[in-house]
Amino acid sequence: MEKILLLGFSDQASLKLLPEGATVAASLAASLECSWEVALVGKGVQEAANALGSCGAAKFYGVEGDEFAFARYSSDLPAAEALLKASQSTLILVPGSSRANRVLSALAMRLGGRADTHVTRVAVEEGKVLANRWFYRQRMEACFSRSQRPWVISLEPGNVEPQSFNAATVSVEMVSVALPDDAKRTKVLGLKYPAGTAQTIRPDAQLLFVAGAGWTKKQPDGELHVPEAEKTILDFLEKTQSSLGSTKSLVDQTGGGDAVLSFMTHLNQIGQTGSTPRHAKGLATCCHGEEPHVVGWRFITERRAVNIDANCGWARGKTDVLYVADAFAVMKKVNELLSE
Ligand SMILES: Cc1cc2nc3c(=O)[nH]c(=O)nc-3n(C[C@H](O)[C@H](O)[C@H](O)COP(=O)(O)OP(=O)(O)OC[C@H]3O[C@@H](n4cnc5c(N)ncnc54)[C@H](O)[C@@H]3O)c2cc1C
Repeated sequence: MEKILLLGFSDQASLKLLPEGATVAASLAASLECSWEVALVGKGVQEAANALGSCGAAKFYGVEGDEFAFARYSSDLPAAEALLKASQSTLILVPGSSRANRVLSALAMRLGGRADTHVTRVAVEEGKVLANRWFYRQRMEACFSRSQRPWVISLEPGNVEPQSFNAATVSVEMVSVALPDDAKRTKVLGLKYPAGTAQTIRPDAQLLFVAGAGWTKKQPDGELHVPEAEKTILDFLEKTQSSLGSTKSLVDQTGGGDAVLSFMTHLNQIGQTGSTPRHAKGLATCCHGEEPHVVGWRFITERRAVNIDANCGWARGKTDVLYVADAFAVMKKVNELLSE
């Protein structure tokens, strides 16, 4: 008989993923007709548990304290281990924040189990638990099962619509974990991001805005308009809080001595050799829509593109709507409308 544990951390980024994790845990427990529990590590564990109050979990556990407030391998790992031992669950579902993903394989190793990260679906078929994940830069999807327990499964965020749970006061069984001094040597003093990217890459945004190399090319008047391109793009991002993506051609220009957009880095690149984000909508501008770029749009549900060329790659069935227009003019007008 399986028993499910939803394991979460109480930093802001991890907390946001808890409702989605609880939705998956509740649904899996219903399919397996087994009970499920919640375990939380960090500071403010009671409040985090209360927020999930009505989710249907049979029991809540916590490791609480200042020493567990921030992501640190040497404290997160013993805390998670203690919680798993207290719960004795066989299937451990963990919302896949960077904090969680850092400790999961070691956690499974310590308990003689197995870990899988970036799992996009967990389901039950003929009584067997099956997990899905993508391999080889999102080109192949595997559906697999494991016999080892505990099976630690990190859930890739954004795959399940989270239920909204009513808050209720729950009783949390606190588990105490004594950390040796050498587990406390690392202190998190703050976060620093590479210049530019912190403000432009927003995984939670509704819209992915992609800028292609066309923004830095000569325009119909024979001139470059790079400062205008920068202003238009940043204005749109600020107004909409969209996430900024790029093509490879545009980010590679940084090293080629060509005109560049100062806020663009390789971290913005979408595509075969870039990232594959999961925004609900995407808008490509001044981007040709070549296959190595468009494969990065695999999980973008609704796609639109603005290109001056009616024969660009997007026109070949790769977008829902193609506006054949000058992106400088279109985005300027969009920004005006947004200002109103
Ligand atoms: C092995 C390999 C891996 C690759 N991996 C990636 C990857 O991960 N990501 C990626 O992006 N690419 C990747 N590429 C490169 C990819 O094939 C394309 O070369 C690249 O995506 C083209 O970028 P672009 O569309 O910005 O530039 P261009 O091809 O130069 O297109 C610019 C577009 O802007 C349009 N334009 C110009 N002015 C305007 C205007 N005023 N209004 C509207 N439109 C305008 C033009 O009509 C043109 O279509 C890879 C290539 C290879 C070989």
